[in-house]
Amino acid sequence: MEHADCIFCQIVSGKSPAEFLLRASGLVVFKDIRPLAPVHLLIVPEKHIRSINDLTPEDHDLLARMVFTGKDMARLMGTHETGYNLLYNVEWGGGQRVFHLHMHLLGGWKETRGEHAPR
Ligand code: AMP
Ligand code: ZN
Repeated sequence: MEHADCIFCQIVSGKSPAEFLLRASGLVVFKDIRPLAPVHLLIVPEKHIRSINDLTPEDHDLLARMVFTGKDMARLMGTHETGYNLLYNVEWGGGQRVFHLHMHLLGGWKETRGEHAPR
């Protein structure tokens, strides 16, 4: 169900612009508007789910598709071998600011020893 006041629902439905890279299998991929890495994409379900906390067993395949899509996009963007992060921020204290489930793909750095990994 689309949420009228949700920016990612608006992007999914084409009411707000985004730089799309993919739309497939109930997911969209677009560029983050404020990139924190040379490659910063968002993998987003078309379906509105607030956060990881709201996943149900029905979403099992969706979540698997998100991770596989992250892997495929990392290869497409050329950061498959040098490395990358697939990241979920969960709720306010976990850094989530857009409350429509999304997975960040961050990568494209020159270094290969994990200097950028969250710890
Ligand atoms: P999070 O903190 O995990 O909720 O991340 C939300 C991400 O969405 C941030 O990295 C924002 O830069 C990004 N973002 C917010 N609005 C837009 C938008 N209209 N288009 C693309 N990315 C966005
Ligand atoms: Zn939404």
